[in-house]
Amino acid sequence: MSKELGKLRRRIREIDEALLRLAKQRFDLVREIGEVKRNHRLPITDLQIEREVIDHALSVQAELGLDAGFVKNWINSLVAQSVRIQSNDTRNFGIYQIFERADELKAQGKHVIRLEAGEPDFILPESIRQDSKKYVDSKEYTGYVSSKGLNDLREKIAEALNSRYGSAIKSDQILVTPGGKFAIYAAVMAKISIAERAVILEPYWPMYSECVKHANGRVDFIHTTLEDNWNINLEKLASAFDVGAKVLFLNSPCNPTGMTVTRHDMEEIVELGRKKKVTIISDEVYSAYSFNNLCSILETECEEFVYVNSFSKRFGMTGWRIGYAVADKGTIARMQQILQMALTCVPGFIQKTALEVLKNDPQPFDDFAQQIKGRVKVAVNELRKLPVSFSEPQGGMYLFPRSNVEGFDSSEFAPRLLENKLVAIAPGTAFGDYLNHFRLSMTTSPENIEAGIRKLGEELQKT
Ligand code: PLP
Repeated sequence: MSKELGKLRRRIREIDEALLRLAKQRFDLVREIGEVKRNHRLPITDLQIEREVIDHALSVQAELGLDAGFVKNWINSLVAQSVRIQSNDTRNFGIYQIFERADELKAQGKHVIRLEAGEPDFILPESIRQDSKKYVDSKEYTGYVSSKGLNDLREKIAEALNSRYGSAIKSDQILVTPGGKFAIYAAVMAKISIAERAVILEPYWPMYSECVKHANGRVDFIHTTLEDNWNINLEKLASAFDVGAKVLFLNSPCNPTGMTVTRHDMEEIVELGRKKKVTIISDEVYSAYSFNNLCSILETECEEFVYVNSFSKRFGMTGWRIGYAVADKGTIARMQQILQMALTCVPGFIQKTALEVLKNDPQPFDDFAQQIKGRVKVAVNELRKLPVSFSEPQGGMYLFPRSNVEGFDSSEFAPRLLENKLVAIAPGTAFGDYLNHFRLSMTTSPENIEAGIRKLGEELQKT
């Protein structure tokens, strides 16, 4: 009996090995296909082809009488891994290298113009910093507090959102998080399981895809272009939803393009999402910097959403690490569990400071938003003198121009510009398949922005 069992188990191992060897062959082929796509500048994902691959697997499943759920998971994992292989081969997260090198040069005493960072050059008003010290001195706010967030802060956030958007958010629909980043992470962890799909509109903030990868999910990118004024193609979105998306990321105003989602598009997207039960993660961390009539997900009829905002950008509180998410109670409970497990809570004295910020006269913060707007104008005027094309941002803190110089490669240009001219910019490749683009951040003085863009123009002439 044990001999017989041993023989059968050996056979299982042989089959596993054969499957793994076949998987290796599949991934080698995937790499080859990636190479062809790169040479022909084709996008990595093709949802039509994926649909065919999945349908084919399901027809074999039916023929063999295998379990449909198992086959779906299995083929989706293979496809997800294939996309990951092709993406890793091409994507270059050069922004962090630029950031670190700029810091190094600065430490050597060099004056570096920082147009790469996403951090407002703004500090909380003196009176709020004084209030904050009171909370640091108290036992109550330096011990553990609720993992959901302090009641008074959540109530104040709900009140502020409802008065801005006419919504009816209740405080128990709010989770206070260490920055908007953790809100996004927890939302993804709550919504995406292995091999499930999230749709990301390119160009995008790289954290979105990193979070989905971490959840072992897979990303379907929808490429948008400057030529189309970064418009979202709703037909492409509908087909991505058809393949079975669980989540869509929206980021309005957008990092890096500065585009905002129009009310019309927002309503259409919400309707498409409702039909296919797609949760919309609406990242609105730049909502304070908007130069038009911004539409929030909170103004729509959307039922399945996670709204994300932060104190980082509007209030210059990046290092305080505080933000929040709004969603239905069930989603908030799942996200709260993740926060509780990983971090216990956002420190009480930080939450109390955030509450003071919301109670404070908004004028200094509104003035800062105006400054950002003024800087965008300066950048637009300077950029118009260069061989670049761009859409004027409708919000946010960034511009995402495209170089019209032949042979321009932003992943080569950004480090060269930093070494030769001491100007730091983010290469377009950090935000997706945008070799010709680069991102400029408006978080330094107008003088620096003007000088930085002038020097960038000089370096462009050498390309
Ligand atoms: N969302 C976007 C688009 C961002 O660019 C950032 C930060 O740069 C964040 C969210 C998160 O910021 P924080 O975690 O500081 O709130």
